[in-house]
Amino acid sequence: MKNSVPPDFEKQRQQMVAHQLRGRGIRDERVLAAMGKVAREEFVTDRQRRFAYDDSALSIGEGQTISQPYMVAKMLELLACHPEHRVLEVGAGSGYQAALLGELAAEVYAVEIVEPLAERAREVLARLGYDNVVIVLGDGSLGYPPAAPYERIIVAAGAPQIPQPLAEQLTPGGRLVAPVGARSIQTCVVAVKEAGELAVEKSIGCVFVPLVGEHGW
Ligand code: SAH
Repeated sequence: MKNSVPPDFEKQRQQMVAHQLRGRGIRDERVLAAMGKVAREEFVTDRQRRFAYDDSALSIGEGQTISQPYMVAKMLELLACHPEHRVLEVGAGSGYQAALLGELAAEVYAVEIVEPLAERAREVLARLGYDNVVIVLGDGSLGYPPAAPYERIIVAAGAPQIPQPLAEQLTPGGRLVAPVGARSIQTCVVAVKEAGELAVEKSIGCVFVPLVGEHGW
C-alpha cells in the first residue's frame, strides 16, 4: 500500500484567506478570521474534500453547490453582522455559511428546502459544536416567522426579486443581502430597511442556483 500524505487543511485554509480573500480586497477582519477558522472540508462530500480550498464552487450533492470562498466572504462583508445580531439565512445547503454566521452573530436560523441537505448540515454543525445555529427544513422564501424579526438576512440562492416576507421579517434599520435577477445570472443586492421601506443598492454580479418555493422560481 502506498503512503499518502494527508492534506494540510489548516495551511490550505490560511492560504485561501491570504490569496483568494485578502489578496482580492476583502478587508473585514471578523469575516477573514471566521473564514480562517471554519473547516470548509467538513461541509463538502468526501470526494470533494481535497478540493475544499480551491478557488471555486463545489458540489454538495442533490444538484446543489457551495459558493466559491471569495463570493461567500464578499457577501458576508456586505452583510456586516454584529456579534449581538439574530440572522436568517435562506438556502443553508451544506451549512458552511451558517457556521460562518454562527461565528459572526449571536443566533442563526438557516432554512433549507432539500431534506437530505438540511439533515446533513444539522449533523455537521452539531458535531462541530455550533449550538447557536438552528437548521430549519422548509421554504425559506417565506422567511422563518417563529424567530423573526432579524437584524440581518442573507439569501444564498438566486431570486427573481426580494421575497416580500423577508422584507417584512427585517428589523427597522436591518440589512438584507441577496442575489437577485435572472434564473442563471444575478446581481448581488444590499437592501436596508428604512421607515418600513427597502433602500436597495446593487453590488457585484454573481451566479447562484435558483431560489425555489413560493416567492422563488
Ligand atoms: N449557503 C450554502 C450554499 C447554498 S446553495 C452553503 O454554505 O453550503 C443554495 C441552497 O438553497 C441549496 O441548498 C438549495 O436547496 C436551497 N434553496 C433553494 N430554494 C430554497 C428555498 N425556497 N428555501 C430554502 N432553501 C432553498
